[in-house]
Amino acid sequence: MAKTELIGLSKEELNEAIAAIGEKPFRAKQIWQWIYNRGATGFEEMSNLSKELRLKLAENFTISRPKIITEQISADKTHKWLLEFADGQRIETVYIPEADRGAVCISTQVGCAVGCKFCHTGSQKITRNLTAGEIVSQFMVARDAYGEWPTPTNQTRYLSNIVVMGMGEPLHNPENTFKALKILSDGDGIAISKRKITLSTSGIVPKIPSVATEAGVHLAISLHAPTNAKRSQIMPVNDRFPIEEILSACKEYQKVMGRGCYITFEYLMLKDFNDSPEDARELVRLMKKYDLGAKFNLIPFNPWPGCGFEPSSNNKVHAFSREIEAAGYEAPIRVARGQDILAACGQLKSKKENDKKAD
Ligand code: SAH
Ligand code: SF4
Repeated sequence: MAKTELIGLSKEELNEAIAAIGEKPFRAKQIWQWIYNRGATGFEEMSNLSKELRLKLAENFTISRPKIITEQISADKTHKWLLEFADGQRIETVYIPEADRGAVCISTQVGCAVGCKFCHTGSQKITRNLTAGEIVSQFMVARDAYGEWPTPTNQTRYLSNIVVMGMGEPLHNPENTFKALKILSDGDGIAISKRKITLSTSGIVPKIPSVATEAGVHLAISLHAPTNAKRSQIMPVNDRFPIEEILSACKEYQKVMGRGCYITFEYLMLKDFNDSPEDARELVRLMKKYDLGAKFNLIPFNPWPGCGFEPSSNNKVHAFSREIEAAGYEAPIRVARGQDILAACGQLKSKKENDKKAD
């Protein structure tokens, strides 16, 4: 019989798996702690379990990490892993360090079906969803690299935040994504507080309220244009879920989370497409109409070979930011990180161009 992988099981499922081999529930608790608090990569490390039990566990279960195919560190210390899962599928995970903290950017799918015109991942098409275990284990690989096991009890951690902004549309894979976030935020394990987790979506309207009810984490919307006409040109998904419906779903989200739980609207600055002062004013009108607790994040466009777009000039980005801030919204300009190793937003891709032809 195939062994059961323990990473990615919910607490309840782990209890059941341990009960099924005739062990008491407190063993499941101990094993959870070994895996998610201490970062154990094998049963032999579990020193408070008897040798017999460790052998029995190894006969029935596995605790696997994805295989690290390549690992790159950019000039600005952004760290990118190309990871491979048991079936040979690959994704990328990125760690973006700040002075005394940092965010791990995790992927939820191999490729993406949304097909935004500006996004490298989107040009890869969708291969499959990641399982909850595959989502969780990306963070664990990053923690392995920084030796941040056991889970630090003080507030200072290198890996302090999680952004669900890697490859894939998380709300096309909501069940596994939410299950993974529950494991990652569990206080007996990895313990990244939900306040430090942000999920970004291209706007899959029917699933937006569940980011509040099922996950309870911060929400970011990839808006990128102030009108449907413009948004549809770069994000075909807008024809299905237009801006008004997205903003109404955001209202639902905020009803549950509270207005103080600001939604971040990501806005990619594309030269001569969406970066004029009139675009900024249009955006403000839109936001005022829906009266959301909102802030913006202006994203410099990260080009990739063959993308067909150019980044806006610094002057234009700053003018855009000033226009929005004058209306009372925060609109910081995101600093692009890890561009030299193609680790920045929208640059992730796990297949080579010539692999694509074989698909
Ligand atoms: N699928 C989700 C999350 C992953 S994309 C989403 O679209 O929100 C994470 C962020 O990177 C999104 O805001 C996306 O629009 C942005 N992005 C995509 N391509 C980019 C590029 N070439 N340069 C900068 N940001 C990009
Ligand atoms: Fe998919 Fe997000 Fe890229 Fe759009 S921006 S193609 S939704 S990963």
